[in-house]
Amino acid sequence: MVARYDQTTDPELLAALLQARRGTAFFARKLNELSDAELDGGSLLTGWSRRHVVAHVGYNARAIARLIEWAATGVQTPMYPSPEARNHEIDFGATLSPIALRNLFDHAAVHLNVEWRDLPADAWHHQVKTAQGRVVPAAETVWMRTREVWIHAVDLDNGATFADIPAPVLSRLLKDITGAWSSRGTDTGLIVQATGPSGANGALTFGDTGNPGATTVAGGFAAVVQWAAGRAADGVTASTAAGQAVDVPTAPAWI
Ligand code: ZN
Repeated sequence: MVARYDQTTDPELLAALLQARRGTAFFARKLNELSDAELDGGSLLTGWSRRHVVAHVGYNARAIARLIEWAATGVQTPMYPSPEARNHEIDFGATLSPIALRNLFDHAAVHLNVEWRDLPADAWHHQVKTAQGRVVPAAETVWMRTREVWIHAVDLDNGATFADIPAPVLSRLLKDITGAWSSRGTDTGLIVQATGPSGANGALTFGDTGNPGATTVAGGFAAVVQWAAGRAADGVTASTAAGQAVDVPTAPAWI
């Protein structure tokens, strides 16, 4: 018996699922705006065509669905057999016909949504392992997917921008990214300052704030997250503690 509504009743998780579903719909819309010929064009990711982006987002849904099956059954099924297998799969997917590529994205997204919907409420706490080797509760897969669909919709490079990404998603992205830098110590000498989402929450500051020699990278929320995620640096400025403008540094690697 398959339910047609989410098995979880956790309001936080339901809100997170909504952001993932909205992001999936947003990616689908941007993909549908592209003609078959335009799929051959470049994306914002170096070395990747739009085809690579679509294939990756499709296979990512399949990989995350494997984690939900793991959470549901207890049978360990990794996202990918290996990083090489993941990359090979993307290269293969990029060669599919336009219709097959679009079907890959659609079917994988629907399948993942069904896996999420049917996961029993208590199984969302079950531990699974990400492709990076992090052990996380199944609930974390919702965020893993959310950031993929929203950011890669921008990477399709046909009009989506970080300003299209909802403020709560931008906010969590910036926390995640600066948190990753901090735990690796790659944020030394770097302060990141973003005006709050929608300008409502004042400025948010992250990074090496105790360092008077640090460079501050600042800008609007969407622009700062775009820069921090390793995309374009439009809309951000950099300055020394004395207020002198300097070149905007390249953001440290995130994932
Ligand atoms: Zn990705």
